[in-house]
Amino acid sequence: MAERTESESRKLLGRLRETLAQDSAGQERLDRITHLIADSMGTDVCSIYLFRDADTLELCATEGLNPDAVHQTRMRIGEGLVGRVARSKTAVNTPDAPSAKGFRYMPETGEEIFSSFLGVPVQRLGESLGVLVVQSKDARSYSDDEVYALEVVAMVLAEMTELGAFVNNDGDGAMGARHTQPVLFRGGTGQEGASEGQVYLHEPRVVVSNPISDDPHEELRRLQEAIDSLRSSVDAMLNSLGRGADKEQVKVLEAYRMFANSRSWVRRMEEDISLGLSAEAAVEKEQSATRARMEKVPDAYLRERLHDLDDLSNRLLRILTGQGSDTGAEMPEKPILIARNIGPGELLDYGKKLRGIVLEEGSVGSHAAIVARAWAIPLVINAKKILTEALNGDPILVDGDQGVVHLRPEDNVAAAFRDKIAMQAQAQERYASIRDKPATSVCGHTVALHMNAGLMADLPSLESSGAEGVGLFRTELQFLTRATVPRRSELAQIYGSVMDAAQGKQVVFRTLDIGSDKVLPYMKPQDEPNPAMGWRAIRVGLDKRGVMRMQLQALIRGAAGRPLAIMFPFVAQFDEFRDARTQLLDEIEREKKLGHALPSALKIGAMLETPSLAFAPRQFFELADFISIGGNDLKQFFFAADRENERVRRRYDTLNVSFLTFIERIVQRCQETKTPLSFCGEDAGRPVEAACFAAMGMDALSMRPASIGPVKSMIRQTNIAELRAVIDEACGSGAQSVRPAVMGYLTSKSIS
Ligand code: PEP
Ligand code: MG
Repeated sequence: MAERTESESRKLLGRLRETLAQDSAGQERLDRITHLIADSMGTDVCSIYLFRDADTLELCATEGLNPDAVHQTRMRIGEGLVGRVARSKTAVNTPDAPSAKGFRYMPETGEEIFSSFLGVPVQRLGESLGVLVVQSKDARSYSDDEVYALEVVAMVLAEMTELGAFVNNDGDGAMGARHTQPVLFRGGTGQEGASEGQVYLHEPRVVVSNPISDDPHEELRRLQEAIDSLRSSVDAMLNSLGRGADKEQVKVLEAYRMFANSRSWVRRMEEDISLGLSAEAAVEKEQSATRARMEKVPDAYLRERLHDLDDLSNRLLRILTGQGSDTGAEMPEKPILIARNIGPGELLDYGKKLRGIVLEEGSVGSHAAIVARAWAIPLVINAKKILTEALNGDPILVDGDQGVVHLRPEDNVAAAFRDKIAMQAQAQERYASIRDKPATSVCGHTVALHMNAGLMADLPSLESSGAEGVGLFRTELQFLTRATVPRRSELAQIYGSVMDAAQGKQVVFRTLDIGSDKVLPYMKPQDEPNPAMGWRAIRVGLDKRGVMRMQLQALIRGAAGRPLAIMFPFVAQFDEFRDARTQLLDEIEREKKLGHALPSALKIGAMLETPSLAFAPRQFFELADFISIGGNDLKQFFFAADRENERVRRRYDTLNVSFLTFIERIVQRCQETKTPLSFCGEDAGRPVEAACFAAMGMDALSMRPASIGPVKSMIRQTNIAELRAVIDEACGSGAQSVRPAVMGYLTSKSIS
């Protein structure tokens, strides 16, 4: 870059800093800035457009256009050249604006006399805040250096906007203060329930308060030092992983190292610094560009890599500012966790103290969502852009039922919300009153209701929910919460304590379901193109007999002479079940020889999670002591729709005629061999679905503890035999789903 441009640009930023340092009102500052930019760049016009709301840009200050147009001229995103810059988040540079694509004539600004146009987005970390424009009468084309210099200025503007530099003291400023307005986010339901609390960011944002510097040498030195420190920390992380480390983690760190060593990344930041930005601002400018790119990349893999780069920028910012990832706010009294996404392990680390969770991404079928559900923590997923808006400590309302989040709510919204919470508390009282009653339908049919669990901490819910037992104990959660493989004695002790806590009620232990999205930090992960259909659950258990044997021994020892129920996950064919069962019986023999107490009764079951198992030979159904339908997996394979992919997951209703017909077939097969059948997927916890499953002939349902009350209440109000007739009729009617007919029936009977 030419020396002249560099020093010009530095001079401009230097003047900008002086202007910003002056104690003036927001509007005055904006006016001075436009004057200063037009003057420094030798243009006839400089204008600043800022977003009034999510879709509308407003002319907030101008040098050269009609001053009366300020705060009058507005345009929607995408409208005119300014709107085009805002939408595309990229610069528009044209010597002949009136004939450029998208030009819109705005008579009030008097802009038709200006031929050349250069507009750059004012954006911060990928969030559009506005557009900065320069225009000239002559048909000049702005040089790359000028575009670049204007982008640097826009970056400073964005930073200052974030810091509230353009808000008037009297409140009616050039624009409202940021992060103070109420904002509504519409996402999806991850876990029902309403909760009120304060924002707690999983990864707090770094604040840059000094975007401009007049000592580029010092800033370059700081950047270099920070990058050196970043590189050595990435190297150290890689070295500490050692052999047998999680491949995915190694891959991420290797990508980090590649980015950290990327010359072009560093060079771009160095150029920004030489134009007058501080080291922090240079990092953030690059981060903004990465985020803007991230939004446009359709390829999920590439997007993940850009996320890595984003993460790396965060680390670099933390080194530069000394703001560590854990130096964010103290955990507030009622923490509502906000994150881009979160793994089950990280969520377990937070524990039950969270009052709510809001994810920018996330999916209902993920195990983090299952953990949230097990704990009945309201969870909203897909709340786009919440991370750019929310600040630690902000008041927030999470409505898991509607998948809606109110950030910094108005008083009346908060009041209505509290009413809703109170109503839910009343419903809880109603559920408590039937806690010790059976789930017997109006027509006298009783369904056993069990709860799903996975942690010792879940067991107290057995008593409070009124569940008859634990229908699914996901043993892998114990493995996910620690850094090394648990020892057999430790596991035996845990399983023993679980049974102690169950006080004689049955606990069905599911053997490890590792793989898919449940990756253990200490197990060598497989590089699989599709882990959900890969080497997981019983497939791992049968191939790596050591781990399965260890777990089976721990279960037998934990039972210590009590009845024991074990089921194997993800069985796809008879042989797998037979093999696993034989292995369990062998372990029993071994324990007997060792003189250990044997379970007083043993039930060995299988999870039916793959369509193939429904068509297994009759001998399978005879050999299994019980079968439990893992609806989460079964449904994803039945419809070939990834349970973690929100886009396809929602397409297929559980009450779809094909699926219910399939369920009916499984019920028939179990009835032929008198094999007890239950359903333990998430759908069992939804009252309408649960009533339909009961009507289809399911003997038991296993669900998260908080669902027991609503499901029991629904079944106790319903005539299951009548409901079955409604389902059968709807199945024969050519409908795609029986839901409309079922809902119609329930409404006609005033069942809710
Ligand atoms: C299921 O697939 O329905 C199930 C209960 O198992 P998980 O959700 O743990 O895969
Ligand atoms: Mg499953």
